[in-house]
Amino acid sequence: MEELFQINRKDFLKKGGLAAAALGFGTLPAFARRDSVVQLTILHTNDVHSRIDPFPMDGSRNQGLGGVARRAALVKQIRAEQTNVLLLDAGDVFQGTPYFNLYGGELEFTIMSQMGYDASTMGNHDFDNSIAGFVKQLPHANFPFLVGNYDFSNTELKGKTQPYKIFKKQGLKIGIFGVCIELEGLVNKKNYLETVYLDPIAKANEIASLLKNEQHCDFVICLSHLGYKYKENKVSDQVLAKSTRNIDLIIGGHTHTFMKEPENILNLDGKVTTINQVGFAGINLGRLDYFFDRERGGKQRMVAAVLPVISNA
Ligand SMILES: [Zn+2]
Repeated sequence: MEELFQINRKDFLKKGGLAAAALGFGTLPAFARRDSVVQLTILHTNDVHSRIDPFPMDGSRNQGLGGVARRAALVKQIRAEQTNVLLLDAGDVFQGTPYFNLYGGELEFTIMSQMGYDASTMGNHDFDNSIAGFVKQLPHANFPFLVGNYDFSNTELKGKTQPYKIFKKQGLKIGIFGVCIELEGLVNKKNYLETVYLDPIAKANEIASLLKNEQHCDFVICLSHLGYKYKENKVSDQVLAKSTRNIDLIIGGHTHTFMKEPENILNLDGKVTTINQVGFAGINLGRLDYFFDRERGGKQRMVAAVLPVISNA
């Protein structure tokens, strides 16, 4: 656990809303201000489920929350403040509002492209208009879908996703890959057709090892649509973290889990793998700031916040 620590999130959530996003260097502890330190800001969503508008003011629990205009403003503000930003999604972009029924996902992909998403993985609901429906919308996405454990060889998606992508930010190499949930029993077979599900733990180990040991990435992120945890013996982000090596961070989805702060789990090597997930419907934007100290062997420290997507008024 010595490589990572988290500052009490209350320290920066005091101000709330958009103001909390302004994590300027002035508010950071001394270690983060060293010249040898490179800051990487990871922003993430999951299970946005076609939520373009904020929840209506109808007295329900989520009334007034979310909305793409505010999400985009928050991301834009953070990009204006930070040099090295990655914006990621953990799947289930589709399904949940009439926008999806009317436009089939074109709006979701167009908006994510405009917001500058760097990568996403696929959720089970992204098959809701079948593989053909997903393929039809792909030209509207200018970011890759990272899928490491579906074999699409005998489908229209062959060659249209990739297992991983490496990003370079100010001398840092960040390897990102995706693992997805078993579709059988969850999605109608006519929607996923000949997609072959491969063991996510085996594939995650294989890809993470390639990224860290062969590609020499400084940091490895897994975009997972497996789900945070289950009562039954089923693969989840917690199981994945414990059963793998070389993954620094798992950005999760599927279970719509509102984690107040990231969870650190020891992996097979006794090193920390951090899991985070920020609910659903774009109500929150997850933010993790990692500080890599080049003079101290790339030693990392991390600061995390959950940024509520609410009106700035
Ligand atoms: Zn899902």
